[in-house]
Amino acid sequence: MADYTALVAARSGSDIVQQLGSITLETLIQMDDNDELKGQTQAFRAPTIHELKRDNSSDVSRQTEGESERRCIYFCGNSLGLQPLRTRAYVLAHLQHWQSKGVYGHFSEGSAYEGARDSRSPPIMDVDEEAKGPAARVVGAKPDEVAVMQTLTANLHFLMASFYRPTKQRYKIILEGKAFPSDHYAVESHIQTRDINPKEAMVLIEPPSTNSLILPTSHILSVIDQHASSAALLLLPGIQYYTGQLFEIQKITAYAQSRGIVVGWDLAHAVGNVPLKLHDWNVDFAAWCNYKYMNCGPGAIGGLFVHERHTQVTPTSAVPNGQIESGTQVTPNYRPRLAGWWGSAKDGRFSGVNHFVPSPGAGGFQLSNPSALDLAAVRASMSIFAAVSMTQLRAKSLKLTAILEHLLMSPSLLNLPAQVKGHWPPYSIITPADPRERGAQLSIKLDEGLLEPVMERLGDAGVVVDERKPDVVRVAPAPLYNTYVEVWRFCEIFTNACYVARSGKI
Ligand SMILES: *Cc1c(COP(=O)(O)O)cnc(C)c1O
Repeated sequence: MADYTALVAARSGSDIVQQLGSITLETLIQMDDNDELKGQTQAFRAPTIHELKRDNSSDVSRQTEGESERRCIYFCGNSLGLQPLRTRAYVLAHLQHWQSKGVYGHFSEGSAYEGARDSRSPPIMDVDEEAKGPAARVVGAKPDEVAVMQTLTANLHFLMASFYRPTKQRYKIILEGKAFPSDHYAVESHIQTRDINPKEAMVLIEPPSTNSLILPTSHILSVIDQHASSAALLLLPGIQYYTGQLFEIQKITAYAQSRGIVVGWDLAHAVGNVPLKLHDWNVDFAAWCNYKYMNCGPGAIGGLFVHERHTQVTPTSAVPNGQIESGTQVTPNYRPRLAGWWGSAKDGRFSGVNHFVPSPGAGGFQLSNPSALDLAAVRASMSIFAAVSMTQLRAKSLKLTAILEHLLMSPSLLNLPAQVKGHWPPYSIITPADPRERGAQLSIKLDEGLLEPVMERLGDAGVVVDERKPDVVRVAPAPLYNTYVEVWRFCEIFTNACYVARSGKI
């Protein structure tokens, strides 16, 4: 059985497949049996094909009863992760807590709140704090460098308000030309609101070659060099949402920082997918959403990271020995930001004195009291992540995705009609072939005209993947809940769908 060091050293999917030995349906069943994450897989339940197709409104309770019918193959965790089974219990526990405690539910102590504490519903004052520890583990940060708050785009705005500090000399923001629209708009609008012309200030990194969308590190570094003296900020995705390319976060961060550029990362597709070490990599800031690989539910509360060197709150030098006379208001030094009461030190939140002093740490970037209802779903999912390591997840993910690639590119292993002729396969994979440059997702580019019929067949067969018109299917086996056998079944259904779709065209 392949070990982690060998897996992460592999330079191609076939390297990994070789480590695994022969790939047959039988060996994959065996691998599922031996999977150390099997317990986590069982913490989720994919929709049944029947559920996907019927109107749920009449009978919600049936969903919990475990229908005997076949589950769909859900390879869409890059878009919206599955609901953990325990989420329902966490949400209900919160509803009960709110109903029975009212405002007293905020605190753990006090005359009215001495009841037995349900770990699924801590005091409302602490719900955001409880989520940040597991989140910090997932992104490789210290707990105080992470805040669970707001949504991804909002967090990018708050972070740029603090970290984009344009001067006459340095005012550009470098990002990718094919950035996710929201990131592009966020950057553009920040530049506009500072009365700077986006045409001059937005540097869009385009692929160096016309026949690939991949941005090689060397190319990114050369763009940084071109704008080294005029760029204020570099904002890139950890994993590119369309191609699935995993960027060299540590190397790019260090390179840009050495040229005086602040570096932020959008980790929407990286968090919960690949191991991250934001603290050690010295990243300035990062933001992510929690509804993709993090499984916290549609529009869930997101997260942000601010490196601890940016979050210190220090007494001003004007105060001798840090001694503050009582009654005087001394404003300490801290990084300017868009502030709200939830970012102020906890004991100051209810003081009634309008004197903002942020809590040290990323928590000092919070604004509002968070929705405890939404956080119930976040904490439910975090409790699953707290029980696994990103190394374990990555090890399984490398195997799942390598097997997926292997079977897609050698369909002779599968049960395909013998008369497949001519140009095969009628698709190519646009995600990097080197496993070190990708996460769980493979983006498959279909030959012209095939997308619609293929998606239709996949839908009929109960396969859930994500299409990007005109011709790309994004396929993401999530290591937390997908299985090796599902990869096999997916490849059979997918290659058959391609075969039939193409035959239909001829
Ligand atoms: C999913 C995703 C978003 C979505 O932003 P929200 O603010 O959560 O709606 C933004 N950027 C990237 C790169 C994404 O992948």
